[in-house]
Amino acid sequence: MQTELANTFMSGPDERGFFGKFGGRFVSETLMPLILALEDEFGRARNDPNFWAEMEDLWKHYVGRPSPLYLAERLTEHFGGAKIYMKRDELNHTGAHKINNVLGQILLAKRMGKNRIIAETGAGQHGVATATVCARFGLECIVYMGVHDVERQAPNVFRMRLLGAKVNPVTSGRGTLKDAMNDALRDWVTNVHNTFYCIGTVAGPHPYPLMVREFQSVIGREAKQQMLEREGRLPDTLVACIGGGSNAMGLFHPFLDDRNVRIIGVEAGGKGVDERMEHCASLTGGRPGVLHGNKTYLLQDGDGQILEGFSISAGLDYPGIGPEHSWLHDTGRAEYVAITDDEALEAFQQCCALEGIIPALEPSHALAHVAKIAGGLPKDHLICMNMCGRGDKDIFTVAKALGLDIKTE
Ligand SMILES: *Cc1c(COP(=O)(O)O)cnc(C)c1O
Repeated sequence: MQTELANTFMSGPDERGFFGKFGGRFVSETLMPLILALEDEFGRARNDPNFWAEMEDLWKHYVGRPSPLYLAERLTEHFGGAKIYMKRDELNHTGAHKINNVLGQILLAKRMGKNRIIAETGAGQHGVATATVCARFGLECIVYMGVHDVERQAPNVFRMRLLGAKVNPVTSGRGTLKDAMNDALRDWVTNVHNTFYCIGTVAGPHPYPLMVREFQSVIGREAKQQMLEREGRLPDTLVACIGGGSNAMGLFHPFLDDRNVRIIGVEAGGKGVDERMEHCASLTGGRPGVLHGNKTYLLQDGDGQILEGFSISAGLDYPGIGPEHSWLHDTGRAEYVAITDDEALEAFQQCCALEGIIPALEPSHALAHVAKIAGGLPKDHLICMNMCGRGDKDIFTVAKALGLDIKTE
């Protein structure tokens, strides 16, 4: 099959940052020199064995990589079909995959002599990962966070402060993630000389989508090797949840040219993907436009206004999606589906009860899709889903959604 295809899916983006018609760098003149300097340094670091040696060392001793590939026997038995493997990235230091990427960008910042790190955060997970690594390297850390999110995510705000970061509440726009990202971009232009902007997902202007994908691809490289060791062959299906798409891109990328591997991205369907727009499924329910320096599928109204996403999972409510996913969607190499809040909640509880793993609400969406397909697949079919985050942070949300009182039940 492989020989029928002239092109590889792994070589993108092109030199201007395009994956097909998606991606690019739609930025102001003032931002361009910063982006180009970053691209240069990333290009050098990418080919520097010393850079990767330092990454490997930190991944191993600070993050706890490689994360295990775990056969979820009881879930497998419960659904009675495909064998369900979990890539256990929730076991990483700070409880999710985000730190894989943050470490890479902070090492780049150090190479560039930048000692002031800025980041945007929605749910606070990327802010916490960035504050963590800045503490580790003694760097100043400023996190932009919508006022609305500062209120909703108090524990993560406190974590960031404990780690020495300054949290800047953003009041512009609707005071959420999209606005925090705009303010961070403005800060960057203003403080060019000493500032590095650490983006948390495969979005933003080129080279960010490429760079973040490269740092997160450690997930897929490990999973591939581990599956070969365990089963002697590649998985048949990959499943990962999508906010901006970084954990999914990290798992998917090393498998893109393995044409027999089916690839499924799971978006947040919220209360359902329909005209009420109470969801966060940019691919399943949005259309192409430009946001945060790149062209991609976005949630927008008839006039092209960007809409706020809605999901029970705070980490999935980014109104866009990484441009590489938009391209994989349009080329048909990957499939994208949506899972509702209720379906994710059910998968969350199943995973707790049957596997003794409290998953984050984000990967609970991936698990819910696994639950839908596993039973209909043969017993020798291998599914690998990305368990990209742990659920300790979500217990209050889950209690509320289930109508339970966390103090008495
Ligand atoms: C931030 C986050 C996500 C969403 O981000 P991606 O870039 O789509 O991976 C998903 N899961 C967890 C656990 C997160 O913290």
